[in-house]
Amino acid sequence: MNQPTLQVAVVGAGLGGLCAAISLASRGANVDLFEAAPVAGGKAGTVCIDGVHVDTGPSLLTLPEAFDAALAPAGVTLADLVTLVRPDPAFCYRWPDGVELPVFIEAERTLQSVRRVLGDSARAQLADFLAYAARAWEIGAPRFIFAPGVDLTELFSPRALAGLAALDPFRTMEAAITNRVREPHLRDLLRRYATYNGSHPGRAPATLNCIAHVELALGGFGVQGGIHVLIDALVALARQRGVTFHLGTPVTRLRTAGRRIVGLEVEGATHDADAVICNADVGHLTATLLPGGASGLPATVEPSLSGWTGIFRASGTVTAAHTVLFPANYPEEFTDLFERRRPPADPTVYASAPAVAHGGDRWSDAQPLFTMINAPAGWNGTCDELAALARARLMAAGMIAEADPLPWTRTPRELAARFPGSQGAIYGSSSNGMFAAFKRPPNRLSGVPGLYLASGSAHPGGGMPLCALSGKNAADACLADAGRR
Ligand SMILES: Cc1cc2nc3c(=O)[nH]c(=O)nc-3n(C[C@H](O)[C@H](O)[C@H](O)COP(=O)(O)OP(=O)(O)OC[C@H]3O[C@@H](n4cnc5c(N)ncnc54)[C@H](O)[C@@H]3O)c2cc1C
Repeated sequence: MNQPTLQVAVVGAGLGGLCAAISLASRGANVDLFEAAPVAGGKAGTVCIDGVHVDTGPSLLTLPEAFDAALAPAGVTLADLVTLVRPDPAFCYRWPDGVELPVFIEAERTLQSVRRVLGDSARAQLADFLAYAARAWEIGAPRFIFAPGVDLTELFSPRALAGLAALDPFRTMEAAITNRVREPHLRDLLRRYATYNGSHPGRAPATLNCIAHVELALGGFGVQGGIHVLIDALVALARQRGVTFHLGTPVTRLRTAGRRIVGLEVEGATHDADAVICNADVGHLTATLLPGGASGLPATVEPSLSGWTGIFRASGTVTAAHTVLFPANYPEEFTDLFERRRPPADPTVYASAPAVAHGGDRWSDAQPLFTMINAPAGWNGTCDELAALARARLMAAGMIAEADPLPWTRTPRELAARFPGSQGAIYGSSSNGMFAAFKRPPNRLSGVPGLYLASGSAHPGGGMPLCALSGKNAADACLADAGRR
């Protein structure tokens, strides 16, 4: 007997929601996607400034194979949707003592650059560290990233114990970095990878040092035209596969019969569904969409870092796709962020030039410079001081001129308001603590049949490729539970 078509509602058109919707619709489900904002993309947003579209969220794409895995049910690869860009150099790291280190997509060229700028010994230290980080990735990625869930018992099974030393989960990123690397500039560079999921290098497990391998060996890419080109392509693919978009339509709550999800409500109207995929931040689910009802969630985990962001009209010289301006004492930044719970007094300034990183648009007299300074999640204070600090540092680096306008900014408080339940966290939950990965909400909520989570605040975590995998896992679980796979 033919089964009736599975009716799925997706809450949110961020990366996780879009990937889940594409996957489900490509396998025969009838998908309605509800997005509060008038446009799709979520944190991977964009703003139009004087005719130029500038990304306001992610600037660097890693792990393209995660998108390939998420899009496989649609018979599409990432390369079918967008052209990846290999900016050259990818990064330029700069310190107040005058050291400038260009970093490339190819690890061997980065090692040569380290030898040229920091010497033979530093090159050897980074090569050793990358070999160590590669081993952690080989053991960790199949268990923590590409698996549909993380299982503590499996990790400590006799089969897995052999790989435990390579995973290095019992000490912190900082301990492993300082143990293996003596060169102070390299230490800063490697510490910064903790912020790639909004964590503290002194608290995140050393396993997370595998992020250095992901970026420095596997590569951090641009997307021809900008990250928004990827979002547009995903929306077009979803529409082509029959997903119905309800943009500008906030979901007010999820409907249940007993514990089971039966649909949702939007501004007074109801919508029936066999299953709901929640792409909204988990904090919004528990506080608003299903208050008191989202049983099966692990205890709350610490949110990732937030940040002040701004876009300058830069008329200065920008040589790399991404520039990182370190302060004299980088570890002090983490003390400010995680212990004093305030923006750093002397922050690292990150600046991405989309015209270089993605071959994106620019104005005739200037190019956009997307700038970020980390701040604690939940930071409610003003950020005028951070904007002034960013301006001063970029001017000192010759990247902007004194009169260059700053036409767009977003504070952590504004980020939190735009993404309810997020506290302004950029990547969902942090990885601070040895068991953080095990506390992250799973993609299937066993306590609420019919409810699935696909977002940076669920497994396997934040960042574009992980959110794509989150969408994949949620779609797979939904279809498996409905007996459609
Ligand atoms: C400044 C910044 C820089 C970043 N840099 C990088 C980077 O370089 N590389 C990288 O890989 N990642 C980066 N990230 C992280 C990455 O952007 C996110 O992890 C990812 O985009 C989040 O996707 P998501 O699936 O969690 O959905 P989200 O982007 O969180 O989207 C969720 C969607 O749900 C909608 N929604 C919420 N509640 C409702 C409701 N009640 N009804 C309807 N819709 C609702 C929201 O409007 C939103 O559109 C960055 C993020 C930021 C903010």
